[in-house]
Amino acid sequence: MIPFCDLKAQYDTIKDEIDAAIIDTISNSSFILGKPVKALEENIAAYCGSKYAVGVSSGTDALVLALIACGIKPGDEVITTPVTFVATIEAIVRVGAVPVFVDIEETTYNIDPGKIEEKISEKTKAILPVHLYGHPASIERICEIARQKSLKLIEDCAQSIGSEYRGKKVGTFGDAGCFSFFPAKTLGGYGDGGMIVTDSEEVGETARVLRVHGCKTKNYQVMHGFNARLDALQASIIDVKLKYLDKWIKSRIDNAAYYSKKLEPLENVSTPKIDELAKHSFNYYTIRFNGYDAEKRDAVVKKLGEEGIGCGVYYPVSQHLQGVYSEYGYKKGDLPVSEMVQDQILTLPIFPELTHAQIDTVVDAVARFTG
Ligand SMILES: *Cc1c(COP(=O)(O)O)cnc(C)c1O
Repeated sequence: MIPFCDLKAQYDTIKDEIDAAIIDTISNSSFILGKPVKALEENIAAYCGSKYAVGVSSGTDALVLALIACGIKPGDEVITTPVTFVATIEAIVRVGAVPVFVDIEETTYNIDPGKIEEKISEKTKAILPVHLYGHPASIERICEIARQKSLKLIEDCAQSIGSEYRGKKVGTFGDAGCFSFFPAKTLGGYGDGGMIVTDSEEVGETARVLRVHGCKTKNYQVMHGFNARLDALQASIIDVKLKYLDKWIKSRIDNAAYYSKKLEPLENVSTPKIDELAKHSFNYYTIRFNGYDAEKRDAVVKKLGEEGIGCGVYYPVSQHLQGVYSEYGYKKGDLPVSEMVQDQILTLPIFPELTHAQIDTVVDAVARFTG
């Protein structure tokens, strides 16, 4: 049995510190914001190299609050990638804006900057790239377009804490960077959580007000807000785990290199391509079966499952083809690279505690099932 993700194995390595942090927070009864959240915000800002960090209730809420704090309004268009988790698009729609999908690069599966400009209209107000699986999007080119066209840039870093482009951490290129502490992410809590990082005092301050019902001082609302605070127990857990983050990312990178060395001889399999200027933090290790359709890929998923190997498809539906977005008028064939990739990808276990022997087992199985 090889699980997709083994949170218990990681907990066992840091149990004493985690337990002490939880007991400390409970003993101090500082459950709402307070010291644990403030400490984590300072440490995440320092880790990313940003001026401000604002703890929020999830990665999804980080995106919603960041969009509002950046001034995105109902009817505005936001350019984004269709190859992402549903939450990216959901956040755009939740603020009343319209998602505009741009096809992806065949190498990294991130938004293709070469195809952004043709989608910019008078209504376009922002670009929202996702650093998918932990590989930075072509962020310098995207920054250039945003600057030239006076668009806001909000980075979805839910899968990419610790990733870098030219030595600079993702989340710090645009107006706001949005992180998720969902348990299975590279830096996961023991429940939901998220964070916005920014160098803009205004964006940071607005996000702080939005997360507590739009109140600047208690009971006096200055805008329509949310209850979207980061839970203090989660903050205290994540703050312990942050100390180990770089070590865990290193293990993920080592595991990825080992996988790729073993998988490269397989004719049907494409291993992840890494831009030479990028640091890929491998929240996910995703391979692609060349020439496969969804049915053939799903057959491999099923066989791996029968052998007790956890794997997943991230994501089986390009977001422009989700039924709930039919109102925007996209149809099959509009974004051919995204549509091909959705049918061919498969994500293998890559958690830091995974051993080379376990990777050998996974690779053997993939080799047998792709013949
Ligand atoms: C996980 C994820 C989110 C949402 O984060 P939650 O903390 O689960 O709300 C958003 N975008 C991407 C790309 C994600 O992977």
